[in-house]
Amino acid sequence: MAFVTRFAPSPTGYLHKGHAFSALTAWRAAREAEGRLLLRIEDIDATRCRPEFDAAIEEDLTWLGLNWETPVRRQSEHLADYQAALERLRDLGLLYRCFRTRKEVLDEIGRAPHHPGEGPDGAVFTGGPLPLAEEQVLLDRGKPFAWRLSLAAARRRLGAAWDRLRFTEVGQGEVQARPESAGDVVLARKDVGVAYHLAVVFDDALQGVTHVIRGLDLYEATHIQRLLQALLDLPTPLYRHHALLTGPDGRRFAKRDHSQTLRELRDSGVTAEQLRADLGFGAR
Ligand code: GLU
Repeated sequence: MAFVTRFAPSPTGYLHKGHAFSALTAWRAAREAEGRLLLRIEDIDATRCRPEFDAAIEEDLTWLGLNWETPVRRQSEHLADYQAALERLRDLGLLYRCFRTRKEVLDEIGRAPHHPGEGPDGAVFTGGPLPLAEEQVLLDRGKPFAWRLSLAAARRRLGAAWDRLRFTEVGQGEVQARPESAGDVVLARKDVGVAYHLAVVFDDALQGVTHVIRGLDLYEATHIQRLLQALLDLPTPLYRHHALLTGPDGRRFAKRDHSQTLRELRDSGVTAEQLRADLGFGAR
């Protein structure tokens, strides 16, 4: 079976040890399977992505000793593709406009008698669309809106297939997807015009990714992405979510831990060999 995996960082900070672990995991899996490793730059969020972080990605990965196929796909160059996928879902009646601000969403959830709590994307929102007349008033006023996926509409569309939404977690077997735990996720942000889940699902299919290897922090995202694959008639790759690397204090690495960025480590004299060995990827 062909084996295609990818490492898909967002240039919102310098790569840190956690990214190195993830990239090495994907790279080793591709090598063992005599497969292909792709690098995808997930830079749709122009408000948070920065060119210097983008430029550093390939430099840091090369230093680490990795190689990948070119050309590298940059999501910001394909916004029209994601827009088309979004329109398809909208034409199917699966999306609705959400004019609420983040604060309004949180307040609304807080007011609900049994609020469903927090989902992988933050607040779980299932408020549904506004009445048409109210919506028209806001549209006329030019109020910005996001597009949300209506779980209720998605469930109606899939019918009995909803209960058969599954994905394979390598080493564990079939997992029943539970997209409802995330609520009505945003598929197009007010500011960016597209959102993470849609771009990832579209690209994984377009690039023929057979194995998505990424951290457990994205496990919940897989449940939503599985639903999007079903709605857009896209294939479902196999998934492998690896444990997250934690520092000595037990906390996972994050972009704010500057001391653990690959460039800081390199500047402080750590060699790529040492880092690889430290992360459990000793012999090349
Ligand atoms: N771009 C995402 C991130 O940096 C990863 C997306 C993915 O692996 O599916 O967190």
